[in-house]
Amino acid sequence: LPPTHVLQEKDAAHHLHPFTDTKSLNAKGTRVITRAEGVYLWDSEGHKILDGMAGLWCVNVGYGRTEIIEAVHRQMQQLPYYNTFFQTSHPPAIALAGKIAQLAPDQLDHVFFAGSGSEANDTVVRMVRHYWASEGKPTKKTIISRHNAYHGSTMAGASLGGMSAMHAQGGLPIPDITHINQPYWYGEGGDMDPAEFGLMRARELEAEIDRLGEDNVAAFIGEPIQGAGGVVIPPKTYWPEIQRICRERNILLIADEVICGFGRTGNWFGSQTFNFKPDLMPIAKGLSSGYLPIGAVVVSEKVAKGFIEHGGEFYHGFTYSAHPAACAAALANLEIIENERLPERVANDTGLYLAEKWKMLGEHPLVGEARICGLVGALELSPDKAHRASFEAERGTVGTICRDHCFESGLVMRHVGDSMIISPPLVITRSEVDELIEKAHRALDMTAADVTA
Ligand code: PLP
Repeated sequence: LPPTHVLQEKDAAHHLHPFTDTKSLNAKGTRVITRAEGVYLWDSEGHKILDGMAGLWCVNVGYGRTEIIEAVHRQMQQLPYYNTFFQTSHPPAIALAGKIAQLAPDQLDHVFFAGSGSEANDTVVRMVRHYWASEGKPTKKTIISRHNAYHGSTMAGASLGGMSAMHAQGGLPIPDITHINQPYWYGEGGDMDPAEFGLMRARELEAEIDRLGEDNVAAFIGEPIQGAGGVVIPPKTYWPEIQRICRERNILLIADEVICGFGRTGNWFGSQTFNFKPDLMPIAKGLSSGYLPIGAVVVSEKVAKGFIEHGGEFYHGFTYSAHPAACAAALANLEIIENERLPERVANDTGLYLAEKWKMLGEHPLVGEARICGLVGALELSPDKAHRASFEAERGTVGTICRDHCFESGLVMRHVGDSMIISPPLVITRSEVDELIEKAHRALDMTAADVTA
């Protein structure tokens, strides 16, 4: 490989990065990752780094899995590409749809393939509107989402999302998408009991349906745990109440499982951890552990009926819907998750072990709250933990400092504002958890020293 500075110069010359301030990146230079194995990454300078984020919350089975690599290789030789439009199909698509239907919660048994989580969420918007139109209720179009949600970067995905900076830049949201408040107890719950707060935030859905008129509302969408919004783990009361409202008011319930799916929370899907049954479920990331891009929407018999019984073409699809090599990667990946019983391992072993250590990190003077569910967690950095206070510096300043100290300590953690996030590969061992915690602790100490200096 060329030296790092040459790679950085070439990167700066031609590459515009996603979610990046290009000017400041070019001043600092990119960090170039050159290889990976298990839960570790190596950069172009030879540093070994524990990947506490599983890439972008996706490499559930860890890096370097030859089972997936070989399955993709075989599929590439057999049939590298074909589409699933116009009455055609192919064996990997057929096998993967069946496998997903088998793994998904009981009521979800039909699969529409996309190329990513964003495409899956664009698809979900089209699907729920198609469903209600085919039921003779074309006015039921509005989808209610939540502030601070993340559902992708396409126009519909970013509109479903509740990130104000994305809305401002993109002239979003597109019409017929509205947002209610998130169940973020640490930041917004004040003195309320978390269970009460969860119910209160869920009931905002009912008020929003009343405001819009039930005949105009198609669906509610939410991530079981809001990921990019800062790992907002809802109180246990929240999702069952959301489900009650959706059922009583005759609107569809969409669980965006792009992060929570495939074992992250200690069950195959986040809806199982939080005790509700969605009608539609966008998935991506852990479906292939990121080895190749693939997403999908899994839907219930009831929603599929709109396609199967009513007939008429659904004018929607992607060249890479059910790409054969991506399907092969997903099938091999799901086999690993099943054989290694990763959801069970998260629920009964590594998740419990990490939770115990994570709570200990919560004792650090810089940490206001340490929350975790399965293998996804956040540390809220605070200058005054007794009062759940925020830093006075621009939001994210302290988080950025801590993120950089993590990296210097050989650990990838992401920051969302002044929260530090982890979502490591599900294959992480207890001793790797110890290493993660020790490095995070060191980074917190270094950050505390900077903040008080
Ligand atoms: N939905 C959720 C909950 C996500 O976290 C993401 C990505 O982080 C997406 C959708 C978008 O997925 P993609 O980046 O594959 O388009």
